[in-house]
Amino acid sequence: MKDPVTGLFDRQQFLHILEQEINEANEHRTTIGLLVADIRAFSRINRTHGYSCGDRTLQAFADILSRICRSQDQAARIGDNLFALILPGIMNSGHAELAAFKIQRLLDVPIQLEHETIHCTANIGIALCPDHATGPDILLREAEDALQRARQADQPVYVAETRNDDEISDVWDIELELQDSIKESRLHAWLQPKVSLTTGKPTGAEALVRWDSPGRGLCPPDVFIPVAESTGFIKPLTTWMLNSALRLSSGWTKQWGELEVSVNIPPRILEQPDFSDLVMSTWELWKPAGIRLCLEILEQSFTGDTASVFSKLKTLRDEGIKIAIDDFGTGYSSLAYFRDIPADQLKIDRSFVQGLLDDRANANIVSLVIDLAHRFGLSVVAEGVEDRKTLAMLQKMGCDSVQGFVFSRPMPANEFESWLRDYRGIRSPAAVVLAK
Ligand code: C2E
Ligand code: CA
Ligand code: CA
Repeated sequence: MKDPVTGLFDRQQFLHILEQEINEANEHRTTIGLLVADIRAFSRINRTHGYSCGDRTLQAFADILSRICRSQDQAARIGDNLFALILPGIMNSGHAELAAFKIQRLLDVPIQLEHETIHCTANIGIALCPDHATGPDILLREAEDALQRARQADQPVYVAETRNDDEISDVWDIELELQDSIKESRLHAWLQPKVSLTTGKPTGAEALVRWDSPGRGLCPPDVFIPVAESTGFIKPLTTWMLNSALRLSSGWTKQWGELEVSVNIPPRILEQPDFSDLVMSTWELWKPAGIRLCLEILEQSFTGDTASVFSKLKTLRDEGIKIAIDDFGTGYSSLAYFRDIPADQLKIDRSFVQGLLDDRANANIVSLVIDLAHRFGLSVVAEGVEDRKTLAMLQKMGCDSVQGFVFSRPMPANEFESWLRDYRGIRSPAAVVLAK
């Protein structure tokens, strides 16, 4: 789709093109430059000269990008005043910098509108594939980080930091090894319990992926999820996790009543048109008795096309699937969320929970978030609870349930089954959480 104001590609189309170009470049071992540019103080242009001048400034900026494009380059508007330029087949970062400086030179000439003259300046961030990333999401993130650095240093152009050869070859290795991990049964779904603070009973578990890598041993997700996200392997991985979580939960004891099994769904998967079908077909396949499926969605999922994301989540909720907002507090939250978001649960990120006892500000935030969530009918899970004092404090604040080392670290599926059968609650002077 084209952006109606500038006629350039819009964000969604841009991501699609970037992915295709990167696949080509990875296959033929060529280099792509990605430029991300924003017009400085654009909101001031809107405020001082009016929105139609703002629009015409965006059009003039789009013209500049089109003027410097070679036939194989592609320009897009990917945010309000954020533009991107894909430069396939360049030799090195110098070529991308050259393009960036050409843009800056063209901006030296003030933009002449009907009644006004606009002096417009821009910051530009640059990242290269494969030098800085080998997948679209991370490449875009690297270019946006470079843009942020350009802004902070008040510099017209900034190139992402180059990773050393070892780091790059490590990413290539992980990428290659991951390809066969499912076939070779090297992925494992570990489980970490969630416990209700009102009944003291387990409410279910979050499924967390582990990778038994041939060369590195058992790897935590932080090492390979970013690589999986940048290569497209995240889709088979998420499908595998959904199936595994539902298969494993069918063997859980029924003594605690209905339990919930949660699976992490990254933004990239949520964006895909067949996402709801994927979840529904997996759910229909397993439908374990006494189990509810919960999808943990990051706040970052709501920064793009929210209408489409909301509508998918609503469809799934109508089918009885629960939605949790994960890592709450770390993304770009807006209060408007609470009104519109089709979700059941909010997970407060552990960075807030862990400072709860020593930091009044954190305690205030957690307490406010609990109240706010309750007002909008969401239940609250606190993540990363490591000790009983924090547990007691959360109980006092009205938090509904917790997940953390205080009950158990994530564990292999068979250990979780035993944990669930043998669980009796915990009792200490500071916190009483007893299974009733
Ligand atoms: P997350 O979704 O926030 O998962 C919770 C993480 O917090 C887990 O780390 C868990 O081990 C850790 N944790 C739980 N309780 C405590 C505690 O009391 N203290 C501390 N310090 N940490 C605690 P893990 O398993 O290493 O996962 C890290 C992240 O990797 C996850 O964060 C999630 O974003 C991602 N991840 C894990 N599994 C999957 C998956 O299957 N798919 C996707 N897309 N991402 C996954
Ligand atoms: Ca999670
Ligand atoms: Ca989390």
